[in-house]
Amino acid sequence: MTTPGSPTLKLACHCGANTYSFPVTLPLDKKYKDIHLCLCSDCRWQTGNVAGSFIHAPNPPFDPEGSPPATLTAYKSSDVAARYFCSTCSSQLFLRYNIPELTQDTNNGFWLASGVVELPPGETFSVPEIIFGDSVGDGGMASLISDIKVCRTLEDALTPDDIAAKEKDASSLDVPQKLEGKCHCSSVKITLSRQTGQPEELPPNTFSSNTDLVIPNYTPADQQPPIDEKKPWWIRDEQVPGRGHRFLGGLCTCDSCRTIAGGEVQSWVFVPSVCIELTLPSGETVPWPGNEELADNKKYSGVIGTYKSTPGDPGVLRGFCRTCGANIFWDGLTRRNFVDLSAGLFTQRGVREEAWIEWWTERVSYVEDSERRHDLGKRLEKGLKDWKARLGGRA
Ligand SMILES: [Zn+2]
Ligand SMILES: [Zn+2]
Ligand SMILES: [Zn+2]
Ligand SMILES: [Zn+2]
Repeated sequence: MTTPGSPTLKLACHCGANTYSFPVTLPLDKKYKDIHLCLCSDCRWQTGNVAGSFIHAPNPPFDPEGSPPATLTAYKSSDVAARYFCSTCSSQLFLRYNIPELTQDTNNGFWLASGVVELPPGETFSVPEIIFGDSVGDGGMASLISDIKVCRTLEDALTPDDIAAKEKDASSLDVPQKLEGKCHCSSVKITLSRQTGQPEELPPNTFSSNTDLVIPNYTPADQQPPIDEKKPWWIRDEQVPGRGHRFLGGLCTCDSCRTIAGGEVQSWVFVPSVCIELTLPSGETVPWPGNEELADNKKYSGVIGTYKSTPGDPGVLRGFCRTCGANIFWDGLTRRNFVDLSAGLFTQRGVREEAWIEWWTERVSYVEDSERRHDLGKRLEKGLKDWKARLGGRA
């Protein structure tokens, strides 16, 4: 029972089908506000994001020996871990480790996805460390944050020199002919082809209005640059001559992405749909279906769940893997044949794939939304610029 007015951690998914309230005492224990960013492959492929993002749970949200609430989908991501996400909106909510050292704790091995948690008034999160930094060959998200401890697994730390060495090693990896992505359970497999700059990738066949990542949405309409018909913002320069155009990638800390990812940062790659192929669990490979097909055709809707995350904007649609819960895509109304894909799906090789993706280092999209929760958005904006300088501008 929660006494009215007593401090709680409130947890709610985006659609509100799942709400929890965990009584806590003040001053709030650090373990409920220290966010652990995890770079392990289970976290990346099961969320579709570049990192998992968790805090300790004060109590178990439900009895793990029984069935989870009907509004949740459970997914076993390893022999010892289960993850739980909202069956309607796909918000990541809980992670539970079924290992004796943790299940004997008062929270029975549960962690909370930080992005769906609101702390008691006046409290803010800290982001002191990244764990499983060795799971990504080039440092992954750890390269992009300033002033953070990076652990190889759970303790032993990687130095900035270690991370720079990882980045250097990764830069000599072969560049794949096509960029393969998939969710944790492999129900959703996506293959990207290079942009060619041909008419099918240009307006009017392919169109997206300016993204907040590049042109902040608070920019007055008359100061927003028009979309260049010959070289729109989504067709990026080659990393190395002869290698082919790249896609734009970037980070978003908007409240909507945060709540659905269950993490403080969501990562996107912006892609004309003509460059995307989808392989279904049956093995059939198809061109990327439009939103109506995805939502209404059982062939797709049984595999990729869809959710309208912006009430009042019927064009906004998000998609997720029904089995493992991975975030797959975002689409909006001022779009034609264009989609944002979750970047974590494309980390199968454990690298950021900079030969395919130009990561935007000037801004974190909707960084303003993150500032009342923590300083991570601002540290990312600094870290992104430092990273680009370290690479000699070759981001
Ligand atoms: Zn929900
Ligand atoms: Zn993890
Ligand atoms: Zn999946
Ligand atoms: Zn967002």
